[in-house]
Amino acid sequence: MALSRSQSGRKNRFEEAEFQGNIVRLIAIERKPEKALDALCAHYRVERPILRIGLPRGEKRALGCYVRRERAIYISSEDYLFDPYVLIHEFYHHLRHVDGKHRGTERHARDFALSFLRNAQRTVASRSDGLN
Ligand SMILES: [Zn+2]
Repeated sequence: MALSRSQSGRKNRFEEAEFQGNIVRLIAIERKPEKALDALCAHYRVERPILRIGLPRGEKRALGCYVRRERAIYISSEDYLFDPYVLIHEFYHHLRHVDGKHRGTERHARDFALSFLRNAQRTVASRSDGLN
């Protein structure tokens, strides 16, 4: 074990930031939300949710929503399919549902998704810094 705990912690945080940045780019730039979901599920080791376009009956105003009994993420329209915030936010509800803790709140879902967006900006910035 050459790495001290703090060094490996730092490395893990960097890798997590890279991962989150890549997810955002996969959705927004490569426009592959299905592939992003595969990567998210592999990363967090959870079953794959179904991805549907449209909203479930009774839901009219949301941009997206997660339906537990169907294990499905609904995205209101194709435009929002490529909005990383919406997909990652709804993925958070799936994550909190399948791990059985049921602790997911809207605030946590928002913070989770915003962390991805921040890390996407940060990893792009650090990459272009290297070019001088
Ligand atoms: Zn939500």
